[in-house]
Amino acid sequence: MFQYLNEEAETLSREKIEALQDERLKRIVAYTAKSNPWYAERFRKAGVDPLNFGGIKEITKLPFCSKADFREQYPLGMCCVPRNTLAEMHMSSGSTGTPVVMPSTAYDLKQWAQCMGRCYVMAGAKRGDTCQITPGFGLFNGGFGCYHGAREAGLFIVPTGAGNTTRQIKLAQDFGTRVMVSVVSYSIRIMELLRQTNQGLPDLKIGIFGAESFSAEMKKRITTGLGIDAFDIYGMTETGGIGLGMDCPAHEGIHVWEDQYIVEVVDHETGEPVPDGEFGEIVITSLNREALPVIRFKTSDRGRILTRKKCVCGRTHLRLDTISGRLDDMLIISGVNFFPTQIEQSLLKIPGVLPNYQIIIRDRHGIKSLRINVEAEPGVTGFMVEKQLKEDLGFSPEGDIYKPGELPRSEGKAKRIFYETLDDNSSKGETK
Ligand SMILES: [Zn+2]
Repeated sequence: MFQYLNEEAETLSREKIEALQDERLKRIVAYTAKSNPWYAERFRKAGVDPLNFGGIKEITKLPFCSKADFREQYPLGMCCVPRNTLAEMHMSSGSTGTPVVMPSTAYDLKQWAQCMGRCYVMAGAKRGDTCQITPGFGLFNGGFGCYHGAREAGLFIVPTGAGNTTRQIKLAQDFGTRVMVSVVSYSIRIMELLRQTNQGLPDLKIGIFGAESFSAEMKKRITTGLGIDAFDIYGMTETGGIGLGMDCPAHEGIHVWEDQYIVEVVDHETGEPVPDGEFGEIVITSLNREALPVIRFKTSDRGRILTRKKCVCGRTHLRLDTISGRLDDMLIISGVNFFPTQIEQSLLKIPGVLPNYQIIIRDRHGIKSLRINVEAEPGVTGFMVEKQLKEDLGFSPEGDIYKPGELPRSEGKAKRIFYETLDDNSSKGETK
């Protein structure tokens, strides 16, 4: 019943996975040090001899790298191959400043296609299935990652890219889309339009979602609303793009392709490893990339390792819990720490509340307060929202209830968090 793109690699024994990781880690340390003085200098400072590095058991001796390193080394300071051997690049800009660039050689594109291809097949996609790719084809890695992987898995690609929801629906109907890739907020948009126009997508069975953290409650709305099985794909520009892992049909955690990546979970502040099962910051090392292998990249994603045991699907690669949020996005309001996805989870528990909302963080003289605007069907009252948030988060923010369709929509990743500074006497007007 369960299918694999690469059965041998996906079902390696734990011993074999660890032996392979050990060998590849030693190789990547020696390779990067030899290819680029930036890496060599960092190893030297950390007291690591790249030619005699001890492998996995010494991984904590290797220095971390971060988004800031990518920005400082823009455009190709961390690249390990000559520019004329590159095949493609992707980039993410983030909220401020210099972008993060990930260059790829032809070998890297094959590696990416392999990872993404495994995800499609794991979700149940079969050779010849129509696969509609709604993330944009551009600098953002999503569209092209889905494309390379779909080629590898032998799917029939409908590369719509972002936007034009009416046409997306028409193409999905006309070409019998069975697999659709999208960001969560965009699938909400499609669901909304289907409902308004009284249409359906009877062939659609598999939804692959990435790029935004989403709550279990949101997932439930999507799976029932579209009548699909929903998968949570993981990966980022710095690791070579989306597809380094995804959950399988058992939905008991995100399998990370451990022959390609090492996952660690560390304390966000101290950088010390935390035991399996405990939450911390996810750190990724890419073991099989040529142009820009990351070594101990601090993702800022908060998560935990659920298990390293073999899954019912037969895969042996470890499983991560759903990413609970970006540590950079954690909010502290009235002394309570929480992630925006917790607000989403709480709101969507209320029947009649729609998956369109805004979180507004107001800063008055350094004191933060929260305002939540949400769309809801008639009958939902402010009191119901307040009560639910109080119960789940321990305090109730201010806010308004909007009619369906009143809050602004986006064609891509939704903007849900807004910052406002109300510091009347201060010369600084910027928060984030
Ligand atoms: Zn599994």
